[in-house]
Amino acid sequence: MIVTRFAPSPTGYLHLGHAFAAITAYETAKRNAGRFRLRIEDIDRSRCRTEFEGAIFDDLHWLGLEWEEPVLRQSDRLETYRAALAKLGAQGLLYPCFCTRGEIAAEIARSAEAPHGPEGALYPGTCRQLTEAERQSRIQSGAAYALRLDVKAAAQHAGDIQFEERGCGPHGERGTIAAHPALSGDIVLARKDIPASYHLAVVLDDAFQGVTQVTRGNDLFAATHFQRLLQSLLHLPAPAYAHHRLILDERGRKLSKRDNAVTLRSLREEGVPPAEIRERLGP
Ligand code: GLU
Repeated sequence: MIVTRFAPSPTGYLHLGHAFAAITAYETAKRNAGRFRLRIEDIDRSRCRTEFEGAIFDDLHWLGLEWEEPVLRQSDRLETYRAALAKLGAQGLLYPCFCTRGEIAAEIARSAEAPHGPEGALYPGTCRQLTEAERQSRIQSGAAYALRLDVKAAAQHAGDIQFEERGCGPHGERGTIAAHPALSGDIVLARKDIPASYHLAVVLDDAFQGVTQVTRGNDLFAATHFQRLLQSLLHLPAPAYAHHRLILDERGRKLSKRDNAVTLRSLREEGVPPAEIRERLGP
């Protein structure tokens, strides 16, 4: 039984890129007599709005999609995220990071050896070097901190891991892919303001929702290497992945909520029928 999902964040109106991701996941499930589930990724309460959540349901219904109830909300799952952090913490794989964004940028600019991954500069590991006594004294003084995964230690702990790519990565990757999670650096698993992060929540929720095939844009292909590591550390089942092409604007850039990409809502208000949306998106 194939189970796919669409997992939008209610931080704006859905655009054509979201429609493509949702339709691809939905059609894959339907073609295979499988199931399609929905998840609202709303851990960042400062950016999420209820009106956008309502709009997600409206827009998906308008596109003709149906999903299983209940819809999973990440904001209801903080206890699960906390428990997983405790598990990773007990394995000695997390460390507190007190750095601000500005400090990280300055450290990267200062050091010629700052580590880089395929998507640019990585966290330079500043707080990984702190002694236990320094960590405790900063925590006790009330300093805010995030929790980062010591990715090299974690990757060593996990050993060789792979994932199955059924779609296509940005460079044509397909089939069994060796995961290289260290390319992401020491990613934050619990933010200073939220006791979770995107990567942590996503792997726990995909497992909880029984997702067997993660269908999403290939801008998240690099994230898959890291997420596969988290699945291994947390003993979660490994879903297959089907990354798909991105919908680009006329200047060849990925559509983004921030750039006021044309929303499904505005297309609907202009009288564009859903069938034309599907046509515009292509196969
Ligand atoms: N909430 C994420 C987004 O809107 C979903 C990422 C994923 O599919 O894993 O980009």
